[in-house]
Amino acid sequence: MSGASVKVAVRVRPFNSRETSKESKCIIQMQGNSTTILNPKNPKEPPKSFSFDYSYWSHTTPDDPAFASQSLVYNDIGKEMLQHAFEGYNVCIFAYGQTGAGKSYTMMGKQEDGQAGIIPQLCEELFEKINDNSNEDISYSVEVAYMEIYCERVRDLLNPKNKGNLRVREHPLLGPYVEDLSKLAVTSYTDIADLMDAGNKARTVAATNMNETSSRSHAVFTIVFTQRKHDSETDLSTEKVSKISLVDLAGSERADSTGAKGTRLKEGANINKSLTTLGKVISALAEVSKKKKKTDFIPYRDSVLTWLLRENLGGNSRTAMVAALSPADINYDETLSTLRYADRAK
Ligand code: ADP
Repeated sequence: MSGASVKVAVRVRPFNSRETSKESKCIIQMQGNSTTILNPKNPKEPPKSFSFDYSYWSHTTPDDPAFASQSLVYNDIGKEMLQHAFEGYNVCIFAYGQTGAGKSYTMMGKQEDGQAGIIPQLCEELFEKINDNSNEDISYSVEVAYMEIYCERVRDLLNPKNKGNLRVREHPLLGPYVEDLSKLAVTSYTDIADLMDAGNKARTVAATNMNETSSRSHAVFTIVFTQRKHDSETDLSTEKVSKISLVDLAGSERADSTGAKGTRLKEGANINKSLTTLGKVISALAEVSKKKKKTDFIPYRDSVLTWLLRENLGGNSRTAMVAALSPADINYDETLSTLRYADRAK
């Protein structure tokens, strides 16, 4: 795999109560790595077919052996990305899709029901690997940050007292960063789980106070993982630092489909700007990797999200994307647009 290529997965969830009450039909089919979608407005039209690295069928109940479980998704995607982080790469996993399609379920999951998503499983395995390490010459440190990007502004979810928006700056050597964003050292999985919980609560509270919903913002959970190796012969130490970014994107539904006006419309335009730019960045990187050429213009600067993820997307990094799909005929347009977005990332 060359530096810029992106692993792409799609996952279809069970019907929700609204879809069930409308007697929705399932328009998604999966076989192997291929996913097809049927146009319910024109059933004679041949189904559109897409192929991805992984197609996850979760349109059933978790107790059904056919259900693509949280551990399956983690074992395919999370494990590989964590391995890359141990090798010293920056990694990024993000979930894309319309609100309610299953992004948070895939990223965070429902721990209380034994259905932890990629983020908690990855954090747990990170500490398992650290604790299993028997090489005394290697030591580790882990720091986490959790922020929300809403309308091109950044909020600190681990320090909700810091109500203002944080400034995005550029370090001459380390690249773009958020000024004053809390970065907390953690020494166990429980530490991370507590911070994640607090951050998720802060996200809901902030959204309620501002009369928004959190589905309009991007949540970016970052783990900075440092491995220090001490060479006892030379008494020198070397350091490998990897940044792991785990991103639950804002809902991809178009602003106009909800009849947005005023603030909502502006908000929609900003969200779309980040998602459109992210799409452009990822497809430009995919092109660069296909043509095996080094230089091409990558529009990182066009949105705060892509600017802050710059070190996690291009160059020395590994990226995976999970596109969350509704199974229902009533969401055909949005689901098709999600499939197309995912298709361009390959
Ligand atoms: P989003 O984050 O995209 O807005 P959610 O992850 O909150 O959507 O999912 C909406 C609802 O569907 C939640 O109740 C969630 O538990 C359920 N859900 C989503 N994906 C799955 C899945 N793969 N299996 C079972 N339930 C799911």
